[in-house]
Amino acid sequence: MRMSQEQIRNSLDQALKEEQFVIYIQPQYNHSNKALIGGEALVRWFHPEHGMQSPADFIPIFEETGQIPRLDLYVFEQVCKYQKSCIDRKEECYPISFNVSREDLQVPDYIDSMERIRQKYDVPVSFLRVEITESSAVGSIDFIVELVDRLHRLGYLVEMDDFGSGYSSLNVLKDLKVDIIKLDLKFFAGEVGGRGGIIISSVVNMAKWLNTPVIAEGVETKDQADYMLSIGCELIQGFYYSRPLPTEEFHKLTAQKTCQKSINPSQFIENLDTGRFWNPESLETLIFSNFVGGAAILLYSLDGSAEILRINNKYLREISMNLTEKDVLSNDPWGYFDAENKRIYQSTLEKAIKSKDEEECETWRTFVSGCCSPERLCILSSMQLIGTMENKYLFYIMIRNITKEKRIFNEIYASDQRFRAASEHENIYAWEYCIATKEMRPCFRCMRDLGVPAVVENYPEPLIDAGIFPPDYADMYRDWMRQIDAGAPSMEGVIPLTVGRIPFLIRYTTEFDENGRPVKAFGSARLIETKLPETDPAGGKKES
Ligand code: C2E
Ligand code: MG
Ligand code: MG
Repeated sequence: MRMSQEQIRNSLDQALKEEQFVIYIQPQYNHSNKALIGGEALVRWFHPEHGMQSPADFIPIFEETGQIPRLDLYVFEQVCKYQKSCIDRKEECYPISFNVSREDLQVPDYIDSMERIRQKYDVPVSFLRVEITESSAVGSIDFIVELVDRLHRLGYLVEMDDFGSGYSSLNVLKDLKVDIIKLDLKFFAGEVGGRGGIIISSVVNMAKWLNTPVIAEGVETKDQADYMLSIGCELIQGFYYSRPLPTEEFHKLTAQKTCQKSINPSQFIENLDTGRFWNPESLETLIFSNFVGGAAILLYSLDGSAEILRINNKYLREISMNLTEKDVLSNDPWGYFDAENKRIYQSTLEKAIKSKDEEECETWRTFVSGCCSPERLCILSSMQLIGTMENKYLFYIMIRNITKEKRIFNEIYASDQRFRAASEHENIYAWEYCIATKEMRPCFRCMRDLGVPAVVENYPEPLIDAGIFPPDYADMYRDWMRQIDAGAPSMEGVIPLTVGRIPFLIRYTTEFDENGRPVKAFGSARLIETKLPETDPAGGKKES
């Protein structure tokens, strides 16, 4: 029967005296070889009248009343006693984790009290592991950092319990140098195959970049255990393997031989200070979030799968499809691509793996969001490999939405194609003359047929020198240009061009700025059939 809050508050002394609290130990396993790796001590309260009470009911009350340190030291003592009995019997000892509440850590000599108990039973620290929760660090991070350092100096491994329950997970990880992360599947509502699964695998990946082993808690089914193993988290605690057991039963398990006592971080990342990278306040992150454009961290596997682990706000703004960070992180990145664009993107990733340099590609992707109709966007991505692990590659990707530029470019390209076709059909050459700089920019036909460079400075002299304008027409043509410079709105006349003296009708139309000053003149030359007058080269006709 559940006790009232009042009854709980007033019963601790007597319950401790009468040894109503008992520790149960929940075994932890390595799912890849089914070996026992240790256990977690969880307190149980057997009340003589009210029966078994759940820690979820009484722990928060003892935390509230400030009584929890007494209970936790009692539990710690039971754990030490248990380990001592194993040591005395010369049996193998498995590390047992014990819970330390945030309130315990506020007690100035809590760690000293722990140490006194440990020394009384003479238990090596390696058989004990401290579990603190993420929320311990909320608001008082420096203080907890100091305590964790102290525990480390004493030789304890520190586990972060209930990782993923808070919003500040990453924040906490960067300051608290925990040795093991405990990820509780209940925070992901059993969605192991769906969105929750992607978040879980991202956390496991992040933990790997930090070189920190993860124990998955709350694993109830084989599917969940297999899934965790498939994403590289083989350490499991949960009902699938075992409920919390009375110490005698846990002890029986340890007598069996399939045991593995140490937790080895399995994979390492090379070449990257990832702790700094994931640290939300590091310079890298500051740059990631503020100074660069859209950026993402992408995990690419050589089996072709890809996962986005992080994005910054500007990434969402670049896409501007009302997508949320959660959408982007939980969707399959390949879902936006058609086969051809996926091939381009994938081959660029692979090129970047080989070159270890920044590589770029443009790909079209179709984005869909709740409120907008599907839209095809062209994204320019530049990708840089930042870490490798087995056959997985971590990329820093910068993106720019170039859809508008691309569409304008495509329009210009199409109109240029039309112009090219028309100019070929009509045998027209065209160019642009800039009055301020005296630069001439020819069309593709001038370049192709006459060998004119893309920009001609000091126009028209180089073309006169090259013989495109025959010497007897040079002065006349120079005069045309002077008139254009002075603001003549148009010019027209027939000029024989090249040594072959092929007659062309040459026309100019001048463009003026808003103050009426001439800016540019557009020139064209069309082949004509008429025979040229032999004498008067000054065929220029000024129109006003
Ligand atoms: P916790 O430290 O995260 O412990 C894990 C909890 O998950 C335990 O609940 C355990 O019985 C439960 N659990 C384990 N496997 C599964 C599973 O597969 N499915 C589900 N649904 N649950 C699973 P329990 O024993 O009720 O403890 C609840 C919480 O109370 C603990 O969460 C811990 O925060 C706190 N607690 C327990 N013992 C102590 C203690 O001695 N001191 C302090 N300060 N807190 C304690
Ligand atoms: Mg715990
Ligand atoms: Mg937990």
